[in-house]
Amino acid sequence: MTSPTDTPQPPGRTPHRSAPRPGGETPLVPGASPRTPVPPEAREAPQGRPPAREARERSVAAERGPLAMEAVSLDKDFRLGRGEVLHAVRGVSFGLYRGAVVALVGESGSGKSTVARLLAGQEHPTGGSIRLDGEPVEVSSRRAFRQHKSKVQLVFQDPFSSLNPVHTVRYHLERPVKLHRGTRSADETAREVTALLEQVRLTPAGKFLPKFPHELSGGQRQRVSFARALAARPRVLLADEPVSMLDVSIRLEMLSLLDDLRRRFQLALLYITHDIASARYFADEVLVMYGGEIVERGPAEELTQSPAHPYTQLLVASAPDPDNLGSALRGGTGHAGRLSLRPPVPPATSGAHSAPQDGTAPGGTAPGAAAAGRRPAGTGPAATGCPFSARCPLADDRCRTDDPPLRRVSAVRAAACWRLDVAAPGILAQSQGGGT
Ligand code: ADP
Ligand code: MG
Repeated sequence: MTSPTDTPQPPGRTPHRSAPRPGGETPLVPGASPRTPVPPEAREAPQGRPPAREARERSVAAERGPLAMEAVSLDKDFRLGRGEVLHAVRGVSFGLYRGAVVALVGESGSGKSTVARLLAGQEHPTGGSIRLDGEPVEVSSRRAFRQHKSKVQLVFQDPFSSLNPVHTVRYHLERPVKLHRGTRSADETAREVTALLEQVRLTPAGKFLPKFPHELSGGQRQRVSFARALAARPRVLLADEPVSMLDVSIRLEMLSLLDDLRRRFQLALLYITHDIASARYFADEVLVMYGGEIVERGPAEELTQSPAHPYTQLLVASAPDPDNLGSALRGGTGHAGRLSLRPPVPPATSGAHSAPQDGTAPGGTAPGAAAAGRRPAGTGPAATGCPFSARCPLADDRCRTDDPPLRRVSAVRAAACWRLDVAAPGILAQSQGGGT
């Protein structure tokens, strides 16, 4: 099985992450002042990651099933006018495997939804490529988009805005059933629609068919969104913060439903969240994003137990009671009370750690709002070097000038940090000793 990280970089691309400086580590600059905050749009242009010099980590998600979809060195720039460019996604590579859950975790504005829209064919990448079942994805026409949608479905955070208030549940489900399944008779369509509602546990189906979105609870609306996505019989489901807007009491139930659907239909599931706590028990593999880049990746349990990157450490430390998350889904014994699904809160002590303002931006955030409006001044990604360097208590001169490559730290883990010797000495020692 090929991991996406085994995939060679596209030829002719120069590294966007700067090469390590000769001379090794730069000592901390005594009394160094915090950097002036720089919005993500001001960051230097992405030019791809440096070529791998060593064996790359493999994805644990690959153990569940075959590769369905892969992102290879994806970049996405947004032109904001007046010559300003926002590098929303930079050099992002990962694979989605049948029957496996990969979580994309990061605070608001880190580029998660953009990645989802790229995979869904709603945005065109500025650089890199997307492959589905080994074939390059080119969504260049309406027809191609429809074909892509029959295999890759996106579910949004807010079921209210994604369902049309003037249409019933029946209408929302009949359309995709006819379109994607090509049902011919009214009876056949009705049978399919009923089956869909049963799959998402909206029973008896007859009770829900004539209802309008406003007559349903938030959880029921999200179930209709899942049913609509399943109508296409997709192999890939992209769930963008699917439970963030739901009451805490029903989040676990919804994740449990998603997990059930994943298993039943062997879905390759991308679970997008700002909440590393839910990713820990729900996902096989976790990808942590910051400033448009993947800064750490690895098996969900291992990564959250011993995070290597300072940003992941901040996320884990900020997640309430991370040790009490249990394995509600995997073990089938947990309950909502043991699972913290609240947005992380900032640690009280460290002045260098600023508050991640998570979970506040809905999926359809206006351009720039997440970066500009919801994060306190001075906490955005750094313009040069490591994107986290502006907030990282360990950042030194090299971190502020050179963007660290995502480097393998075990057979299944990678982190992009120059200061791993301080941030995660145990993990680094293991990797240097050839451990896995
Ligand atoms: P997340 O989902 O992690 O909150 P997004 O992918 O929504 O992050 O956004 C990443 C960055 O890209 C943000 O700064 C956001 O404002 C910006 N962005 C997203 N979509 C657009 C767009 N269509 N035009 C301009 N900027 C955008
Ligand atoms: Mg988002």
